[in-house]
Amino acid sequence: MYLKRLEMSGFKSFANRTELEFVPGITAVVGPNGSGKSNVTDGIRWVLGEQSAKSLRGSKMEDVIFAGSDTRKPVGFCEVAITFDNTERKLPLDYTEVTVARRVYRSGESEYLLNKQTCRLKDINELFMDTGIGKEAYSMIGQGKIEEIMSSKSEDRRAIFEEAAGIVKYKSRKKEAEKK
Ligand code: ATP
Ligand code: MG
Repeated sequence: MYLKRLEMSGFKSFANRTELEFVPGITAVVGPNGSGKSNVTDGIRWVLGEQSAKSLRGSKMEDVIFAGSDTRKPVGFCEVAITFDNTERKLPLDYTEVTVARRVYRSGESEYLLNKQTCRLKDINELFMDTGIGKEAYSMIGQGKIEEIMSSKSEDRRAIFEEAAGIVKYKSRKKEAEKK
């Protein structure tokens, strides 16, 4: 499984619809300061359910919507979609590609989509459980993350190993069952 495509529309500095295609292997994103490199990774975290505006380097969630420039008016909503290759069926869906999208309007209205069907954030979280993919999971290693892992409490570090071992979904189901 690998990240195949990232599409952004009206997200942060990407006023126009922007599509990035990835292939297996290493991709480096290069560009001058302020050109939007970090906005690309912000987009990935946002579509995976990031709720903290601060961790997306804004002060309110609306800050992820293109705010206008000298030559362009602000836009009213933004959308990010990421597509994973699923030919090996690592994700429990019978599709060769899995696309997760998130859309938000200035009014605050928002929605998540899984292969174009509206869904809950919970569905997305469950889909990626134990894959290492997720806004907090180890597939996204941000600045300072390594230090955080090294210095965190052993119980916190344990969560990383549980994700890699593939037992998070069982623990989560057990917890749900205990609630009932
Ligand atoms: P560096 O090399 O300094 O890390 P970078 O390539 O990572 O730079 P980003 O931080 O991704 O750059 O992009 C910052 C740019 O994105 C700024 O010019 C900022 O004005 C623009 N930007 C962020 N949010 C919005 C928004 N909502 N609307 C318009 N532009 C935005
Ligand atoms: Mg940056």
